[in-house]
Amino acid sequence: MSARILQGSAFRDAIYAELRGEIDALRAAGITPGLAAVLVGENPASKIYVRNKIAACEQLGIFSAPFAPPASTTTDELLSLVAELNRRDDIDGILVQLPLPPQVDSKRVLESVSPEKDVDGFHPVSLGRLVSGRAGLVACTPAGCMEILRRSGIRAEGANAVVLGRSDIVGKPMALLLMHANATVTICHSKTRNLPEIVERADIVVAAMGRPWMVQPEWIGAGATVIDVGTNQITDAAEAERLFARYPERLEAFKKKGSALVGDVHPGAAEVAGALTPVPGGVGLLTIAMLMSNTVKAARLRRGRAAGTPAAAGVARS
Ligand code: NDP
Repeated sequence: MSARILQGSAFRDAIYAELRGEIDALRAAGITPGLAAVLVGENPASKIYVRNKIAACEQLGIFSAPFAPPASTTTDELLSLVAELNRRDDIDGILVQLPLPPQVDSKRVLESVSPEKDVDGFHPVSLGRLVSGRAGLVACTPAGCMEILRRSGIRAEGANAVVLGRSDIVGKPMALLLMHANATVTICHSKTRNLPEIVERADIVVAAMGRPWMVQPEWIGAGATVIDVGTNQITDAAEAERLFARYPERLEAFKKKGSALVGDVHPGAAEVAGALTPVPGGVGLLTIAMLMSNTVKAARLRRGRAAGTPAAAGVARS
């Protein structure tokens, strides 16, 4: 058996096509959705993430406003920047790229973002809405995983779903979304016993641990759906030799580039699973697509109703 590979690009393109229609409707009412992206310091991975997010805005006709305070910035300076962005009418979404430097109180900064502009879905108000099953802005990565399931015709209702990881930004919201979709959800973490046995009973597995290729093919039940959120940058040559011992072409690619990106799920799982997301090219693309979707949604909710756009009426129903 060979798994259906759930390519993120196909889902992303479908979401962008839908968003273009919604953006056109907003623009016709004089509203251009706007996203502020705050990138503190010089973290190379963060720079790439923010660059990709701004490129997505440009592709869709969303206004983007980048801010790049220095690594030495203080909590108070960031709080006043966020306060200013909260006040600006042309900004619908505020993205504060994590991680922030150690001297900054990240929680305080994230909690200062107005919940109506919280397009990352990290604010306690957004999380509270998610817990109680009310409409709101949902964290982008778990929301993207749900889009993959829905658009692939994979039913969560009644399914045994196992979420590996319990972070505030991936594992917990993922488990809540699956529960609201009527799956029976088990949440696993670093203290969970008998992980392989729990995973084996799953119809849907979402792996979000940050552990390169940890989920082994023999853990996966035949025909299960496997969503691999893990994004692990391998830079250590010894680790690459170990991981890629049976994948000479991947080892070669690593040697040329000096790094490799792998998920949490061993690629051999494709022989057992019914469907599997690749890394790279899977969930990561949906994370950005859902950020765009949240920005458009935030614009419709905050400004669209007042303008009486048809798009705003659509939101009121969802
Ligand atoms: P965190 O480090 O915040 O959380 C990891 C979770 O995995 C924790 O709950 C931890 O358990 C659990 N865990 C770690 N090791 C084990 C283990 N050996 N067995 C069982 N559980 C374990 O990570 P994030 O949630 O932020 O991210 C998870 C992964 O997803 C990372 O690879 C990250 O890069 C990736 N990611 C990808 C995104 C994308 O767009 N594709 C977006 C966001 C994240 P405990 O709580 O007990 O410590």
